[in-house]
Amino acid sequence: SNMKPEPIGHLIDRLLFLIESEAAFRGHRIHYEPSNSCEHINMDRDKIVQVLLNLVRNAFEAMQESGDVYIRIQVNDFAANIEIEDTGSGIPEQHLVKIFNPFYTTKDNGTGLGLSICQKIAQDHGGTLDVTSEIDKGSIFRLRLPIIPHMP
Ligand code: ADP
Ligand code: MG
Repeated sequence: SNMKPEPIGHLIDRLLFLIESEAAFRGHRIHYEPSNSCEHINMDRDKIVQVLLNLVRNAFEAMQESGDVYIRIQVNDFAANIEIEDTGSGIPEQHLVKIFNPFYTTKDNGTGLGLSICQKIAQDHGGTLDVTSEIDKGSIFRLRLPIIPHMP
């Protein structure tokens, strides 16, 4: 497998590099609050970047005209929480259970595969992917991944 210890910061740098021009093209703003944590996660970096890219693209697609996307990282003793928050349409409560199902999409040209693949990748890393959302305010997708404990 391609599992390797990676610092969380490198992951976000790579993500920002990949989404910056797309955000500008769509007129959206990305806000990133860097954490000074140097924690490592055992990961297949390309797969985790793919997850975050999917979440950011969904965020872009949920926002009319120019919107804001907030990327946040919180680290505790066990896990890193990476949050992607948007100021988009939000998701009706009765749809929240369905959005992770393969082929569930509300888009004319959507595949409905993004979130099901994201959740599978999170689980393959011993992590989770969940969402909280408010109609007309936006959504927060939270990827939680176990960190590699500090050596004493
Ligand atoms: P697709 O993007 O191809 O539709 P996904 O699996 O990525 O497939 O997402 C499934 C559905 O979940 C979307 O069609 C949309 O209805 C909803 N969704 C996902 N992310 C967001 C978001 N950030 N804001 C609002 N709805 C979302
Ligand atoms: Mg998608």
